[in-house]
Parts: sequence; C-alpha cells; structure tokens
Amino acid sequence: MATFGTLSTRLTESLKNLRGKGKLSAADVDGTIREIRRALLDADVSLNVVKKFTGDVRERALSDEVNKALNPAQQVVQIVNDELVAILGGSQRRLEFAKKPPTVIMLAGLQGAGKTTLAGKLAKYLAKDKHTPLLVACDLQRPNAVQQLEVVAGNAGVAVYSPEPGNGVGDPVQVAKDSIKFATDKQYDVVIIDTAGRLGVDAELMKQAADIRTATSPDEVLFVIDAMIGQDAVSTAQAFQDGVDFTGVVLTKLDGDARGGAALSVVSETGRPIMFASTGETLDDFEPFYPDRMASRILD
Ligand code: GDP
Repeated sequence: MATFGTLSTRLTESLKNLRGKGKLSAADVDGTIREIRRALLDADVSLNVVKKFTGDVRERALSDEVNKALNPAQQVVQIVNDELVAILGGSQRRLEFAKKPPTVIMLAGLQGAGKTTLAGKLAKYLAKDKHTPLLVACDLQRPNAVQQLEVVAGNAGVAVYSPEPGNGVGDPVQVAKDSIKFATDKQYDVVIIDTAGRLGVDAELMKQAADIRTATSPDEVLFVIDAMIGQDAVSTAQAFQDGVDFTGVVLTKLDGDARGGAALSVVSETGRPIMFASTGETLDDFEPFYPDRMASRILD
C-alpha cells in the first residue's frame, strides 16, 4: 500500500535533520516542527488538526523527558509516532454486532467513494469469519447501481436483496425495511445496506439516508470516503455527520497517491474512528484499520 508518498517522505526527512544532535535546542525543535507543519498542510490535513498536532509534539519535544534521553532525536521520532497514532484514533475499533441478529450496517458517502465495492469487500470479509451477510441495494438513484451490487455480491459469493416489482420498488426506505424482515426470516446475520451516493452534499439524498437510518436503526453507519478527496474531506465528513450521524469511517483508495489529509483529519474533526481501509479494486484489497500500523507506515 502506498502510504501517503510525499507526506511520508517529508515527515521522515524533517526528522532526519535532528539525528546526530545531542541535546536539542528550542531552535532545533522549532525548525523541525515548521517542516512538519508545512508537510501536513501540503498534504491537505486540516488546519485545526495541524495546530493541535504540532502544538502537542512541540510541548513534548521540549520537555525534560526528551533532553534527558540518551538519544533525544530518537525520542522525538517516537513522540511524532505517538501523536500520529493519537490523531488516527488511538486503538483499533471493531464492528459492533447486534445481540439479536441481524446486525445492520448502513453505508453512506459521495458517489464514486467506493461504497458498492466496499459492500462486497465487507461482505466477503464477514463471510470468511462465518457470518452470513446479505447485501441490500438501496441505491435506486443511479442507473445500474442495483445491477452493480448484484455483480459485486456474485463475486463475493454472498446473497443480495434487490427491489423487484411488489418489493418496494422505487422506495429505498421501504426496501431497507423489507430487507431486514427478509434477513430475519432467512437467517442472514448481517445486513449491509448500500445507499445512494451523490456528487455533492445533497439535501434530498441526505434526508433519504437519514430516513433509512431511522427506519432500520443500524448498529453501524459507515461513512465511506475517498482518501484522495483532499481539502474537502472535513466539510464532507461534517455534512454526513450532521445528516446521518455515522458511527465509523472507511477510507478508500489508499492504494492511490493519497495526500493523507482525509485520513489525518476526519477522526479529530468528527470524533468518529476509521474502522477499515480499502486499498484497491479487487474484493480482497481491504483490511481493518490499525492506527499504530498506519502511523508506522507513514514514518517508515
Ligand atoms: P460508489 O459510487 O460509492 O458505490 O463507488 P463504487 O464502489 O462504484 O466505486 C467507484 C470506483 O472506484 C470504481 O471504479 C471502483 O472500482 C473504484 N474503487 C473503489 N474502491 C477502490 C479502492 O480502494 N482503490 C481503487 N484504486 N479503486 C477503488
């Protein structure tokens, strides 16, 4: 997985400049912090997050903890690593399953973010873990979306519930509700609801997603966001948080030349954890998100 190519290189370079120095002066630390700040801003990390991150790193880097250490530069690298883990959410957050099945997982996000692909990836991942997922096609907006989900379900080897005549056609809220009854009757233990995407934040579709949420009381609402979205990451995430109040984030397209802004901003800006990462177009390019592993990869 390419991990934020340029950001990763620049952070590593800025920390290298401290190597070989014994005791670190405030000027040494400030020079490095300035470079880190620029690298983060150029990677489209939000200003709030950059301020908090550099403030926390500076405070700890100038503390006795560092200057008493045998290798102060190494200690600063450790601090940057710790603070990266913190802004990426600290520890891994796993899916919450319902006490009484089916567990309902709803997906929301902009069109093209990778929701439908993710539905297949998540289903395959859960099926490997002995779950019996049912994919539900509630994107009735985009022509072919239902068919696309059927293809994805076929590739993942899982069942799909699609609207058919007499089966709530045209009304995604009804389809979602009916699918849960269907899953209960047929003993599918996880329902994954794919909702309509939109090109921008669209009030009508946001209301539709909120109505699906209300009608199905999901155990998880996953906001799917393209890691390459750049500076729009925070405003888009906040609009979805206000509109549907998601419980977790899935970052997609981490295999591309992501600048890193989305990953490093959304947790702090929304208070919601990144739970999974999607790293390619095939169904196996998918993994749970571990903040510590991601931080190590960035600083590799
Ligand atoms: P949706 O509109 O949100 O349902 O998005 P889709 O699932 O249709 O995905 C949009 C495009 O992005 C498709 O061409 C997918 O193959 C591609 N895609 C989805 N996830 C990833 C990913 O993690 N990496 C890459 N490179 N492409 C992806």
